[in-house]
Amino acid sequence: MDGTRFRLYPQPGFLDSFAEPEIVFVSSPPGSISAGPADDRMYTLFPVGKSEPYGFAANPGEDALAPPWRGDILPPPEPDAQGHFDYLEPGTPQFEAAHLFGCVRFVLDIWEGYFGRRLPWHSEKHFDRIELSILPSLDNAYSGYGFIEVGGDRKHGAYVPFSLNFDVIAHEVGHALIYAEVGVPDPEAPQGEYFGFHESASDLVALLSSLHFDSVLDNFLKATRGNLYVLNEVSRMAELSDNAQIRIAANDVRLGEFVNGWTKEHKLSEPLTGAFFDSFVDLFHECLLDRGAISRKVEEMSDHLLATPEYGPVMQAYFDEAYDRAPDQFRKALIDARDILGTFLADTWQRLNRNDLTYADVAEAFLDVEHEHTGGRYTQMFSQNFAMRDIGMVKVGPQLAPLDEHSHANSIRTQLPVD
Ligand SMILES: [Zn+2]
Repeated sequence: MDGTRFRLYPQPGFLDSFAEPEIVFVSSPPGSISAGPADDRMYTLFPVGKSEPYGFAANPGEDALAPPWRGDILPPPEPDAQGHFDYLEPGTPQFEAAHLFGCVRFVLDIWEGYFGRRLPWHSEKHFDRIELSILPSLDNAYSGYGFIEVGGDRKHGAYVPFSLNFDVIAHEVGHALIYAEVGVPDPEAPQGEYFGFHESASDLVALLSSLHFDSVLDNFLKATRGNLYVLNEVSRMAELSDNAQIRIAANDVRLGEFVNGWTKEHKLSEPLTGAFFDSFVDLFHECLLDRGAISRKVEEMSDHLLATPEYGPVMQAYFDEAYDRAPDQFRKALIDARDILGTFLADTWQRLNRNDLTYADVAEAFLDVEHEHTGGRYTQMFSQNFAMRDIGMVKVGPQLAPLDEHSHANSIRTQLPVD
């Protein structure tokens, strides 16, 4: 491997099953990342004495704060003699800075792979690079114009920095990517389901990116034995409940719930994320079939037993046996499904119009992409998943309350050029 080494927590480091950070390579050649860390796309810093997050005015009537930070900073981490950052020890601000940078670079690499090209930042016209800022006083994380800024979580007692939370960082990179690829709606144009789409896409970026960690793939397969049918049940497997992204994605929310209007864009995002997650599960089964790791009879069995008491145990017994026979094929099939969905999503997002964007538009573009790639092999499967969520069948009602001050998508106002 030619890349630069970092140590990343695939899941928040306080969870037992992921107590150790995993060594990953990012694409940057060793020696190309300087102290900060910093490269030609972004620079990381841990400001000292920064009281307000970017995108908000420090005092009423003043302009919103924008990068770059010109004040003091904590000493940045330096690369080792070979240019790597994996020698840093957790528990230091230097590790946090390297972890934040490493996560952003790792996710960017993955999605540049799916897009097949460099992904520009939305703020490229005004900023050569984006600033990755660590601000412990912030109880949130924002992706804004020229920056990604992360605070931490104090809700559960001790302070847990988001700079160590891969899901949160990957989600923010997802927002940055959608701002750049889809854009921001004209203030005068109808906004449709743009905000719900934004959250959904960001969650999907985080989910698919997390499946690029060996330990996440292994844990996922170990917990389910490849039986993703269980994720569609009401009581999901306890072992997976510590994976926030799967918890969000494996939902059963339908768009019909929002015909009278909506308030929280993250709730509104769930039917779309759910439809794509169901499609991911279907793709995984198709990839298992292609590899001969399961037989068609399992689908018939599933349809036949659905909603009977035997369903759970019979399906699990089948998968336990199939998984023991060919665990490597299960792992490869999971990777195949991940990369097919990632590629289709990347192709879909580039086709969307930022104004008056609806989930039906997203579904239509996705089905077009699928048809171009496969000639329609998965069309029926995917169409059913959208229909199951009422996508394309109902009209979402109006926004009933202004966006939450703290919502991620609210950083749309921090997406406007600062000059
Ligand atoms: Zn968000």
